[in-house]
Amino acid sequence: MKKKSGISPLGIVMIIALVGAIALVGAAALANRQEYLREAAITPTPSITPRTVRITEDPALPTSTPTPRLFQMNAVGVEVRQMQERLAALGYYGGEADGQFGAGTRAAVEAFQRQNGLEADGIAGETTLTLLYSAGAQAFMPTPTPSATPETAMLSSGSQGEQVKQLQQRLQELGFYTGKIDGDYGKGTRNAVTVFQQQHGLEADGIAGEKTLKTLYSGSARQITVTPAPEAVQVLSGNLPLLVNKEHPIADDFVPADLVNMSEYCDASLVKIKYSGTRGVREAVDALLDMLKAAKADGVINWQVSAAYRSVADQRRIFDSNVKSYMDKNGLSRANAISATRKTVADPGTSEHHTGLAFDMTVPNTESFISTKQCKWLHEHCWDYGFVVRYQKDKEDITGFLAEAWHIRYVGAEHSTVMRDRNLCLEEYLQLAR
Ligand SMILES: [Zn+2]
Repeated sequence: MKKKSGISPLGIVMIIALVGAIALVGAAALANRQEYLREAAITPTPSITPRTVRITEDPALPTSTPTPRLFQMNAVGVEVRQMQERLAALGYYGGEADGQFGAGTRAAVEAFQRQNGLEADGIAGETTLTLLYSAGAQAFMPTPTPSATPETAMLSSGSQGEQVKQLQQRLQELGFYTGKIDGDYGKGTRNAVTVFQQQHGLEADGIAGEKTLKTLYSGSARQITVTPAPEAVQVLSGNLPLLVNKEHPIADDFVPADLVNMSEYCDASLVKIKYSGTRGVREAVDALLDMLKAAKADGVINWQVSAAYRSVADQRRIFDSNVKSYMDKNGLSRANAISATRKTVADPGTSEHHTGLAFDMTVPNTESFISTKQCKWLHEHCWDYGFVVRYQKDKEDITGFLAEAWHIRYVGAEHSTVMRDRNLCLEEYLQLAR
């Protein structure tokens, strides 16, 4: 007896058709995927975003979510570092997590805001921070290059419509346009086009002509380049210590690399940081802490750092206020007030504090450091930890500074020990070593 089939001939036809359809859809999906991968491969790497984009599927949230606050340019601290780490984990930030909110951090915050539907103002306020630390934060996605170029050969002020919308969209993806996608070629659109042209070697006329549009929709269109903050200088990278004095001033925008916030970085039981937010170069601060541990072992405690890194602008403020005080309180002429100030305050650009390697060591609530046991210990031992007593009495005419018992400078122990043994100040040492 024949087994009775439950499927009719029509059913069999339908099953065959269904299987065929699935195979077709699968092939189409594969082709799409390949097309996507090919496009992804030729998409230019945006210049303000990291070269290697690490897209984290489910980035681990920080163990303790910081209380939302507000961070913007020039903010410093542990929370800024946490934010940088989080932005890096999501693929937006490629710089060093150094706790300093500079141009790179701002660009990363803006990119995050843009991609997460927030106003891209580069300020990490409560809304931005809350989203950033939430599981809903989107990882960085590179913008795929659009394949279709709009047909119109020219768009300019007053143009309207779908093609202007596309133009605004594209300019926004590349970071040039931050206004509304409204299809109106207004002032904002014109400015964005102008900046795009400037950064792509095109005539910067603010008109999206054929050449501009072609570049804009091509693979060679780059993300906006944010003018970088002055590049931080690796102050300890050379073979010889960096010299900063009256004959060797440094540039106004000089910034040492790898500064740490000493108020947060230093063990408070070893040293008091007089002014919160005082910064110093990490390697030098590490050496300082090693030295103060040794001092503690010798029973010499109660240290204070009353000054470390100072920018040229900071120094200018100090210098000017000193001059003013001599004029107001002592009735000196401006020229005389400047001469008097120069005896104790370095001219802007000539202070060693600009290097982030110099520290003014004091004792809390004690006026005269020179008569303390801390001063005695420091002058005896600092050399072993890479520091020199920079301005000494018998070298005043070489250094150009009156003796300062409290001012130590990190040069590295391979140099400081030689300078101690041969009684050389930095100027003399460099003269011999060169
Ligand atoms: Zn000093």
